[in-house]
Amino acid sequence: MRVIIVKNYDEMSKKAAGIIKNRLEQKPDLVLGLATGSTPMGLYKELIRLHKEKSVSFAKVRTFNLDEYLGLKPDNDQSYHYFMFENLFKHIDIPRENIYIPDGLTNDPGKFCQWYEEEIEKVGGLDLQVIGIGRDGHIGFNEPGSSLASLTRVKTLDEQTIKDNSRFFEKPEDVPHFAITMGVGTILEAKEILFLANGASKSEIVARAIEGPVTSQVTASILQIHPKAIAILDEEAATSLQRKDYYKYAEEQVRQFEKNS
Ligand code: PGA
Repeated sequence: MRVIIVKNYDEMSKKAAGIIKNRLEQKPDLVLGLATGSTPMGLYKELIRLHKEKSVSFAKVRTFNLDEYLGLKPDNDQSYHYFMFENLFKHIDIPRENIYIPDGLTNDPGKFCQWYEEEIEKVGGLDLQVIGIGRDGHIGFNEPGSSLASLTRVKTLDEQTIKDNSRFFEKPEDVPHFAITMGVGTILEAKEILFLANGASKSEIVARAIEGPVTSQVTASILQIHPKAIAILDEEAATSLQRKDYYKYAEEQVRQFEKNS
């Protein structure tokens, strides 16, 4: 895994946006996997800014979101539908029909999840998946113990996740206990993965994900076997990494190489 350590959240967001801009230049009909939560908000702000200054267009892009709570209506301000429209989609030129987010109101989750997998396959798979990490090590809502080969399905949320996400809800008991999520196997099929983490509260789990053993107890650790995963971390999230100095040195070498070639 390539590990890029930057100063702060703002730099993490800009670096990630720069990579997406570059991939869009190479492939305007990029298939993007997207995430919600506080981590990618700065990235989305930056993409909106780049779009407004006409540096990027999403007119041909298709997006697939990682997950959605089960039982929340799309207009519920805690749903991930609402989050995505408010924080990205309504500010850019993506056609509505190119946006895919798991349906939290489906009355046949099994059939829906299979359909979601098929839609991803139909467009040739995910080109680039943006991903954050939960404090329990999850990617998407793949809680500890999830099969590392899992596909899109319903998961029961971990107690830690419910506690962490309750900050967005009026009352902790309002947090749904189930969600539809892409599986670990679905995520791993993406051609490239952009793994973002910031803040001191993530430092320990980030170290376990990047440098610990690959284990279903930390589903993010599977990113170690992906051939093209890039982690962009701020200094705080990187503090517990043992090989932090090496990652910084390696990136500096890449910069020098690019400058001289
Ligand atoms: P956060 O959530 O970005 O709000 O920290 C990340 C996650 O749970 O995957």
